[in-house]
Amino acid sequence: MWPLDKDMVFSDIVITGYEVVDLRFPTSLDGIGVDAMHVGTNGSHPYIRLLTNDSKLSGDGIAFSNGRGAELVCECLRIFADRVVGKTLDQLTANMGKTWRYMVSDSQYRWIGPEKGVTHLGMAGVMNAVWDLWAKAVGVPVWRLVADMTPEQFVQCIDFRYITDVITPDEAVKMLKEVEGTKQDRIKEALENKAVPAYTTSPGWIAFSGDRMKEVLQETIDEGFTVFKFKVGSDLEADKARLKAVRDVIGYDEKYQIMIDANQVWSVPEAIDWMKQLAEYKPVFIEEPTSPDDILGHATIRKALKPYGVGVATGEQAQNRVTFKQLLQAEAIDVCQIDAVRLGSVNECMAVMLMAKKFGVPCVPHNGAMGLTELTSHLSNIDYISVSGKKSMLEAAESYRENLLYPSVIKDAHYVSPTAPGYSTGYAPGAVDKYKYPDGSFWTSEVGEKLKRAPKGGEGLI
Ligand SMILES: [Mg+2]
Repeated sequence: MWPLDKDMVFSDIVITGYEVVDLRFPTSLDGIGVDAMHVGTNGSHPYIRLLTNDSKLSGDGIAFSNGRGAELVCECLRIFADRVVGKTLDQLTANMGKTWRYMVSDSQYRWIGPEKGVTHLGMAGVMNAVWDLWAKAVGVPVWRLVADMTPEQFVQCIDFRYITDVITPDEAVKMLKEVEGTKQDRIKEALENKAVPAYTTSPGWIAFSGDRMKEVLQETIDEGFTVFKFKVGSDLEADKARLKAVRDVIGYDEKYQIMIDANQVWSVPEAIDWMKQLAEYKPVFIEEPTSPDDILGHATIRKALKPYGVGVATGEQAQNRVTFKQLLQAEAIDVCQIDAVRLGSVNECMAVMLMAKKFGVPCVPHNGAMGLTELTSHLSNIDYISVSGKKSMLEAAESYRENLLYPSVIKDAHYVSPTAPGYSTGYAPGAVDKYKYPDGSFWTSEVGEKLKRAPKGGEGLI
């Protein structure tokens, strides 16, 4: 079915084992990643390599967590990786929807899942590695692997259990066929790096204020960005001051847009009150105004803020396709923020893209950290080329990117489409030795040891 390398037969490629590394980057040192809920966290990349009987071919995957959350995720990566050891690439990719169902069917772990929480993060990391392996074996980037699928092949990658009340496989095929005729034009745009406009959070971290914020904002304007996101939610007066400062720089010209992100810090009435007071700064949307599980709460907030012209976005902690289904059914969101490492890999993202299209809601994948933009630039291409046919946008995230083997690139405020075979996962030489936790050279340095002793959060509460 797939354009096999001349010497390569998928049934000959066997997964023989795996390596799991607890990688943590000290992003707390420069305030990147700090928001109303997460103070002093470090970007963790629980990293898995699926090894094969071909020493040149591995499947690389990441999960994501903040700081010590990586300990649990690494254990889950091992648990789910055990399910693919001994399998051939042919067995795993012949029917990806069935493979996905197989991966979530370990009955002894479903009590602490199923399909959510840390077990799902582990399963997703392993499946990200399977997609990487598959695309490497074919010799194309993941986005192209999916873009070249027929609608039927696309749909076969999805487990439709729990979502057929909203979308069936037949309906999905029909929807995909509606945009199939113009797909080659969009592939061309992707190859010309014009398929995915970028927006930036670089000036918007809560730790940045005053002159530092204005300086970074001006730098990003000079780079061609016109859409910016700012963290809010710690202090109302401080939020007002920051957003006023932002508007002092960019004005209210429609050429520029701002969005704001509260990272779940409010209860529903508090979100509505707080946002009414920030509405004068004209944010396009408020992201994660409340608990990621509160679907009806998001619907209430969206309804209350509609007269103020402020939309609602969420999804980075929406744990599976069922949560997204209900957010869409309840008309709770204006923007669908799928996450490449929270949802169950490319497969589950494909399912959510289809449902978002059905409800006419744009998919704007969550990033916010290094390593994620590398994956989501594939997902945004897939959504534009194969599913929605409409351009969306994608968050940029700059920090510690020099440690990545395939760092995403932004040119003219658009993502450059990945070209290397695979899912853009892996680390530059030396990065693993430096940032491996707890014994990498950074983490055993004086600064690293100090960070290990940093407060864990909530210290002042009791
Ligand atoms: Mg966010």
